[in-house]
Amino acid sequence: MAHPYHHALSSVRTWGGTPEDYIHIHSWFDESKMIAADFRHRALRHHAEGIFMAETIFGATITISTGRVIPVRWIGEQHVREDLGFVPSFVDWIKAIRPEPWMGRAARLDAEAGSAPTD
Ligand SMILES: [Zn+2]
Repeated sequence: MAHPYHHALSSVRTWGGTPEDYIHIHSWFDESKMIAADFRHRALRHHAEGIFMAETIFGATITISTGRVIPVRWIGEQHVREDLGFVPSFVDWIKAIRPEPWMGRAARLDAEAGSAPTD
């Protein structure tokens, strides 16, 4: 499994600059390793929506140490392609989740205002 640093080195080979120009973005993609230690952690951010989410966090572009402006989406696509071979949608991940009864459970809501849910 590639370390964020190695993804950053790959970014340097593609767009120039230094690993420090990119490491924060690659580290963000892999922060989900804090909640799941195996490759399934990638379900949280390694998909098209995750790449767009990175834009909302880091901006549409970053200016690297050489002065070159790089779209954050390009960096996210590079990361996800290097890990998975392609950019899946989140729907691709959902298809791999085995449904469990608790996932669809909903509390029965009483029509009367102020009453508590029954279960
Ligand atoms: Zn990754």
